[in-house]
Amino acid sequence: MSKDYKQSSETLLHGEFGVYPSKGIRYALSLTPTGLHIQRLVPKPEDDQRTVLPILDMVGCHTMRSRGSIDVFAYFSIYSYPLKKKKVAMGSTRTRQRLVRTFRVDEAADYEQNQVIAEKWATAIKCLIQGVPISIDTEISPTLQPKARRLMLLLNPCGGRGNALQQCHTHILPIITEADISYNLVQTERQNHARELVQSINLDEWDGIVVISGDGLLFEVINGLMERPDWEDAIKMPIGILPCGSGNALAGAVNYNAGFDQAMGSELLLNCILLLCRGTVMPMDLVSVTTCSGARLFSFLSIAWGFISDVDIESEKYRHMGSARFTVGTMVRVASLRTYRGRLSYLPVLDAHRPICRSITLSPNGNLSPLKRSQLHRTISDMGLCEERNVMCKRSSATFDTAELPSFETSPSPGSPTALHTSRFTFDSVSDDQMQQDLLLPNDKESPTHNHVNGPEDDLLPPLNEPVPKSWVTVEEDFVLVLGIYQSHLGADLFTAPFSCFDDGLIHLFFVKAGISRTALVRLFLAMEKGTHIGLECPYLVHVPVRAFRLEPLTRKGILTVDGERVEYGPIQAQIHHGLSNIISGSDRIRITAF
Ligand code: ADP
Ligand code: MG
Repeated sequence: MSKDYKQSSETLLHGEFGVYPSKGIRYALSLTPTGLHIQRLVPKPEDDQRTVLPILDMVGCHTMRSRGSIDVFAYFSIYSYPLKKKKVAMGSTRTRQRLVRTFRVDEAADYEQNQVIAEKWATAIKCLIQGVPISIDTEISPTLQPKARRLMLLLNPCGGRGNALQQCHTHILPIITEADISYNLVQTERQNHARELVQSINLDEWDGIVVISGDGLLFEVINGLMERPDWEDAIKMPIGILPCGSGNALAGAVNYNAGFDQAMGSELLLNCILLLCRGTVMPMDLVSVTTCSGARLFSFLSIAWGFISDVDIESEKYRHMGSARFTVGTMVRVASLRTYRGRLSYLPVLDAHRPICRSITLSPNGNLSPLKRSQLHRTISDMGLCEERNVMCKRSSATFDTAELPSFETSPSPGSPTALHTSRFTFDSVSDDQMQQDLLLPNDKESPTHNHVNGPEDDLLPPLNEPVPKSWVTVEEDFVLVLGIYQSHLGADLFTAPFSCFDDGLIHLFFVKAGISRTALVRLFLAMEKGTHIGLECPYLVHVPVRAFRLEPLTRKGILTVDGERVEYGPIQAQIHHGLSNIISGSDRIRITAF
């Protein structure tokens, strides 16, 4: 038997308990590092009836006393969200449902002793949920309890279909309260509000900043952190995402990294809440992007030009549809397919096989700096909810349904005709006024780029008006799209770079050349849902792992996006910065993928 197997099956705690509400039923419980094994003792079942509550489905455990404290019993309630089969119109699907199991500790004659036992079980369960190592030899005492984490939640009321606040009240706040997470919830009032807010807050007060929105709000948070004078420490603040937007790519990547099946909507949200409750943090690469005006910004997801950025921005008008807006936008754009001429230069990574994802487990509360709490000005906080924890919860035994490689194109060697074609800036520069007229969507919102110069040096990038180094490869083409992506997902159901992981140090550069038929393009996007598009070996699709790239649009009109947010149109360049930030991934899976 392997050591790991022994460890996962060893019994850490064992005991016999009653239940709440008491119906004369008794159970034997055994807690192992992976689950709570429950066996009914009284009334004795005909068969050896056992159930297991996996730790991975649990979010928290609270001890309680019955209201009025007329009895000597202590209780502990375990909150979990297992996947259950649910009937839907066309068959069945698996959805997470809340399940609370409450056990009564009645071994001793007085409440205090029973409470000590209940507390011991709660401590052990919370340690297992949050990855605090405990073994059979660990003395389980309250001092072992992971400290309650304190998160700043930033909610965009306009994200997705505009129901983030509702999701917050129905799904997010109840669950994170069960996980002992303390929070301050701030609703953003306008674009860039979150960006400005994180520039000025005292980060020592927080164990993480979590956005309740789409990827756009996280883009604001990352850039706000990088704009601080203490950016080097600030950007290490664990950041997380609870998907309530229409573009939920990072949530898709977090979900995939944890080994869950691809999910959308409330299923994806519930998976991400569960992972947030676990709290494990992993390093995540960021990409430094320089736009044509010299503005520098930081990106965690993608840089897009052509088909993808057109769909992203032009589908804003279908925002009420949620993520379906991208499907409609795709159909519209396929119908009138555009091509764009441009020069793409990149620094290929020739040894980019077998990227290894490693997670680091920071302190259980994900905290990187000593905590100094100060008075908070709350928009909404958890104060009232906390007080209810030690009171027997009437709904405790109820359940409720929460549902409502790719073909590398051989890179031309340096010295080959294309490689020699290094960039000379030939984009027909236009005045700001002209540029404004040239934009496809004249009423589009302001570009989110702010000038800032903080951040690590871009040692791979020459200034944008100088040629790229000789070691780079340059192609000049008519493109349907160019995409630099550094996450596995471009949307919750767009598994664009299956081999990518949070800190592989790579930009996965994709481009689709003009000449592809509409059918072939649709086929690529349909296959992308399962990540099988690369296996189609479409000759128009090229993927190259790179560390840096420069894109010079030669077509005068167009849309460029960074993390789904529109930026100024013109030459743009980018380089990866390995593991610059920390993402709350909730999973300590070490995923090794090969090209
Ligand atoms: P979605 O995925 O639905 O696009 P995002 O989180 O990407 O959701 O947000 C969309 C845009 O809304 C982003 O540009 C973000 O900066 C902006 N934004 C954030 N808060 C607000 C607000 N209160 N009002 C309007 N726009 C906002
Ligand atoms: Mg967005």
